[in-house]
Amino acid sequence: MTKEATGMPLDLFSVGDPIADTKAPTDVPIGERWSERRFRGRLVNPANRRKMTIIVVGTGLAGGSAAATLGEAGYKVKSFWYQDSPRRAHSVAAQGGINAAKNYRNDGDSVHRLFYDTVKGGDFRSRENNVHRLAEVSVNIIDQAVAQGVPFAREYGGLLDNRSFGGTQVSRTFYARGQTGQQLLYGAYQALERQMAAGNVEQFARTEMLDLIIVDGRARGIVARDLVTGELSTHYADAVVIASGGYGNVFYLSTNAKGSNTTAIWRAHKRGAYFANPCYTQIHPTCIPVHGEYQSKLTLMSESLRNDGRVWVPKERGDTRDARQIPEEERDYFLERRYPAFGNLVPRDIASRAAKQACDEGRGVGPGGLGVYLDFAEAIQRLGRAAVEAKYGNLFDMYAQITGEDPYATPMRIYPAVHYTMGGLWVDYDLQSTIPGMFVIGEANFSDHGANRLGASALMQGLADGYFVLPSTITEYLADGPFPKVDDSHPAAQEAVQGVTDQIQQLLSIQGTRSVASFHRELGQLMWDYCGMERTDEGLRKAIDRIQGIRQEFWTNVKVLGTWGSFNQNLEHAGRVADFIELAELMCIDALHRNESCGGHFRAESQTPEGEALRDDENFAYVAAWEWTPQGTGPVLHREDLNYEYVHLAQRSYK
Ligand SMILES: Cc1cc2nc3c(=O)[nH]c(=O)nc-3n(C[C@H](O)[C@H](O)[C@H](O)COP(=O)(O)OP(=O)(O)OC[C@H]3O[C@@H](n4cnc5c(N)ncnc54)[C@H](O)[C@@H]3O)c2cc1C
Repeated sequence: MTKEATGMPLDLFSVGDPIADTKAPTDVPIGERWSERRFRGRLVNPANRRKMTIIVVGTGLAGGSAAATLGEAGYKVKSFWYQDSPRRAHSVAAQGGINAAKNYRNDGDSVHRLFYDTVKGGDFRSRENNVHRLAEVSVNIIDQAVAQGVPFAREYGGLLDNRSFGGTQVSRTFYARGQTGQQLLYGAYQALERQMAAGNVEQFARTEMLDLIIVDGRARGIVARDLVTGELSTHYADAVVIASGGYGNVFYLSTNAKGSNTTAIWRAHKRGAYFANPCYTQIHPTCIPVHGEYQSKLTLMSESLRNDGRVWVPKERGDTRDARQIPEEERDYFLERRYPAFGNLVPRDIASRAAKQACDEGRGVGPGGLGVYLDFAEAIQRLGRAAVEAKYGNLFDMYAQITGEDPYATPMRIYPAVHYTMGGLWVDYDLQSTIPGMFVIGEANFSDHGANRLGASALMQGLADGYFVLPSTITEYLADGPFPKVDDSHPAAQEAVQGVTDQIQQLLSIQGTRSVASFHRELGQLMWDYCGMERTDEGLRKAIDRIQGIRQEFWTNVKVLGTWGSFNQNLEHAGRVADFIELAELMCIDALHRNESCGGHFRAESQTPEGEALRDDENFAYVAAWEWTPQGTGPVLHREDLNYEYVHLAQRSYK
């Protein structure tokens, strides 16, 4: 067990028993573990499946694929989402692609290489067993999607095309122009619709899960609110699957869909699910820079653009000349210079920090000097405009529409922005949380990405979880079902409904002077300043103090408009911001306690002389799984030690 690191801020939390994943069969070699787990896990026969109900919260790539697959398997599925259609889940926005170790390019790829790249890319803070399984399953996803008719890009000869993403030296990313998420989501959605039509999946559109119902220690249902009528309802099942996506919007400004939030996982956390590595946030290097105080959303420029786009800033500080007037020898292609082996395709955490450093040195471009160039001049010259347009046309159009600049004629300006959260609810190898019967998949779990996710790996993980992993592992749990019937007369259900009712009434009754959005904006700015790209002991302590103040003010001075029994987005937002405030505090505590740098978590106190993240493996090679304490005594830290049998711990290098 890891020893106590010196300087742990034990005034803010306490340390509990260690936690371990006991489900992966570590007595066989890593390449056999997934197969062995499926063999050892108990099954549920088709006749019994029909007797069991599974609630799936979320219809993005993870939840949509899981609900469709479980429906197809014969379970009764209840599927919940808060948008009008499953097709509007945030997954629809994914642009660049999905990884798979198919080795179609014959460029040296393999399951082992994808496994290795992912463990290294995550800065050695993920579980080997899970990552290996992910790499194995990746190849099945592509077959599944192609069978569904997902129109992946093809080469002239008709084979599926590939491109490269950050942190790899092979081309393993399958894509559908800049709309890969949309096409994959439509594939999952069609499978889901088929199951809805077959009567296996019952749909609850515009319905938001607001609490988890636990009976006799097992997750047995949810409390949900109809977002159109405001009505509360309860739903019961033999198991609950949460696939509610990531929580990047805690920063207010992010590339996530505006609706993405933490409510489902946060409320499950408050019911006993441990929250793992909440501070691991991904800052994506290629986003359109912030351009105004009242902006509410940031736009990603896909990482795929770094296949051909070259990142640079002027060599001289304060050079305000037009980009095209700066001669070649006066430009600093800083990624190519600093990381010659990977060049512009270094992982996101590294590219983001390098861009920030260039801007901090006064060499940033555009308003406020918060931007670097992503330049396609060389690619257009080499490949021709038509070829560049064919690969990236929709992304270029998006850029032109938002900025009013023509990226074919002048370089794009980009800056890092919050994009993805590697943290999430802790799950074991079976994807089961610390609450028996509650499974967590997709971005909502703490995932397989360690401290930094490689590009095109989120879609891979979400679909691996939904199509392949969960449907196999949940049977071990359900083999003990069906569980005794639960209904509204159960005290646990009544207590959960009462809690939700009280909270909504309280939010509507405060009638203070500040809007919900103003609290969210203030919280987001604070998180960006102190728990964003660079974190310090002093800054994090300041942030925790201020978050407590924001929380206090929110509950005494927020003004929630409208009424309960109607379509009321202000009320929805208020509930989500209340949860973001609590989550933000845990994120800062996690960031403060992790007195090392790793991946996207960069502690200024822990860096190499070259300014790279400096890990402390002796003290921090663990997953931090946090337990909520209802009595307000601060969270409890449970550590899961990470053991590396197949990939050796090393200082990450992309040089
Ligand atoms: C702009 C952008 C581009 C990206 N491009 C790529 C890419 O090219 N490749 C890649 O691998 N990854 C990419 N990602 C990351 C990837 O898109 C996400 O990680 C992934 O889609 C998350 O899928 P999910 O199914 O876990 O969650 P989501 O797609 O976010 O779905 C969440 C679902 O949960 C539902 N939900 C949430 N809370 C509740 C609640 N309380 N009650 C009821 N329902 C609820 C929502 O309605 C929704 O259906 C990108 C991300 C962004 C922001």
